Amino acid sequence: METWKRTHACGILRPEHASQTVRLNGWVHRVRDLGGLVFVDLRDRTGLVQVVFDPEVDPDLLERASALRVEYCVAIQGTVRKRRPGAENPKIATGEIEVLATHLQVLNSSKLPPFPLNEENLQVDEMLRLRHRYLDLRRPAMYARLEIRHRLVKFIRDFLSERGFLEVETPILIKSTPEGARDYLVPSRLYPGKFYALPQSPQQLKQLLMVAGVERYFQIARCFRDEDPRADRQPEFTQLDLEMSFVEQEDILNLIEELYTQMIETCTSKRVLKPFPRLTYDGAMERYGCDKPDLRFGLELVNLTDALRTTGFQAFRNVVEAGGIVKAICLTGCADYSRREIDELTEFVKRFGAKGLATIAFTEQGVRSPIAKFLTEEELSAIQNLTQAKSGDLVGIVADHPRVVNESLSRLRHEIGKRLQLADPDLLAFGWVLDFPLLEWDEQEGRWNPSHHPFTSPKLEDIPLLDTDPGKVRAQCYDLVCNGNEVASGSIRIHQRELQDKIFQLLGYPPEEIQERFGHLLEAFEYGAPPHGGIAPGIDRLVMLVCDDENIRNVIAFPKNTAMVDVMFGAPSPVSEEQLRELHIQILDEEEGQEN
Ligand code: ASP
Repeated sequence: METWKRTHACGILRPEHASQTVRLNGWVHRVRDLGGLVFVDLRDRTGLVQVVFDPEVDPDLLERASALRVEYCVAIQGTVRKRRPGAENPKIATGEIEVLATHLQVLNSSKLPPFPLNEENLQVDEMLRLRHRYLDLRRPAMYARLEIRHRLVKFIRDFLSERGFLEVETPILIKSTPEGARDYLVPSRLYPGKFYALPQSPQQLKQLLMVAGVERYFQIARCFRDEDPRADRQPEFTQLDLEMSFVEQEDILNLIEELYTQMIETCTSKRVLKPFPRLTYDGAMERYGCDKPDLRFGLELVNLTDALRTTGFQAFRNVVEAGGIVKAICLTGCADYSRREIDELTEFVKRFGAKGLATIAFTEQGVRSPIAKFLTEEELSAIQNLTQAKSGDLVGIVADHPRVVNESLSRLRHEIGKRLQLADPDLLAFGWVLDFPLLEWDEQEGRWNPSHHPFTSPKLEDIPLLDTDPGKVRAQCYDLVCNGNEVASGSIRIHQRELQDKIFQLLGYPPEEIQERFGHLLEAFEYGAPPHGGIAPGIDRLVMLVCDDENIRNVIAFPKNTAMVDVMFGAPSPVSEEQLRELHIQILDEEEGQEN
């Protein structure tokens, strides 16, 4: 071979290349040594191609080929030829051809990988994959995720650039900007005892860009939030961060709806609902029991509180009299659930605080229910009418505090949707949830918290309520949901100092703290800050949805594990005494608070 460098990628070879001489580079995916012939599946990022080593071409070459092992990095030269009839492999794109090798050069040998890279349904401890991520990413399924992620992000960049948006980088070393999590801190060597915070989001920076007159900003932004570990959480994640001046809520919703619809239709084989359904927060809670409903299927919750307000059934009556609610879900076609299956559903709702699940099965033979004897005929038919239960359906009812009823029934709805396979797997059911309350009362701390973040504008008509009934104030805030996940959150912002000051005060920040933490923003608002608003859709979640993947780590090239550790680098890790000294840091013993 005069050079080892490739002329073609493996995955693009087709019958029309037959009789061409090609040079390929890649990794040995599989070797089949049939004694007389050696077959190698050669892999590069574009796919696989079968290479044949035939002793009739060169007996010496055959011997060297039979010494190849998986993951050897090789260059191969040969001639493309059609496979003989019956030997085609319809499972791969190059399955109609093969390459008859004339030259082989081993560019690098490989140890046996700690897990196979050539199995489609790899069953292996994820820790092992993370420890050798550079091998895991060689697997075609993982490379495909990197590629779709790239395509989605490129689509976003092109779409927004065409509409006059500027991509602006904002700093990673900055000061705390609250999104409701703990900050990651970076000690300053030059200023003993002082710290930078990594941004939980570029929220204040993008607002300052609006004050700066940028008008249309976006960034594929890394956000850092030090929260307790959870399976679907990463300490750093990526958002499409976006902000616009001189806009109202409707402008942002339309822009994002157009972007997402076009992106999904162009880059994936999924469908979206058109237009995106819109729900108010109250409506979503009423119909689905949660603010991120899965809109791929019905099974809506039905409120029975009014119908049962005067019922003789004490268990329900007491709840209603104490300010609770009674809600039901109609499980289509589940009337024949056995005692054991119903017990299992009851255990399921109990996990979310419900005391039980009352069930009524509507059958050809009449009603089957442990609570029927406590209900009148009218009450039973009211339940059937309201839930629209037909013969063959099972109605499940929970009576409790609204929080418990909504939480347990919305979880049950998701669970049953999954079991009955009600969701179309090709549908990405995006929808908007609007009109969130501006504030949430924090029972434990005895104060108001922002539902979104403190920069969110109240609805203008609700501003007077800030003084009289803050809990009733609605926010100019919107969430984008998809298939039961929150995929974006945004709002119209406050752009006037007085209102922002008022909100900070309402949130209980002392004046010195307001000045210390947000003085720069408040001051900026005094220089003609334009009305503005924005949103920040999560990129990792989007890729997960497009790839039908439930593991967030699969869509991030180098993720942390569920304990927030990078197991390949071994981060976090201790640092040298010297580094600590330079940073003016002493490590205290956890247990005793003693110096080490
Ligand atoms: N900064 C917000 C967040 O990270 C999004 C936004 O309001 O634009 O959730």
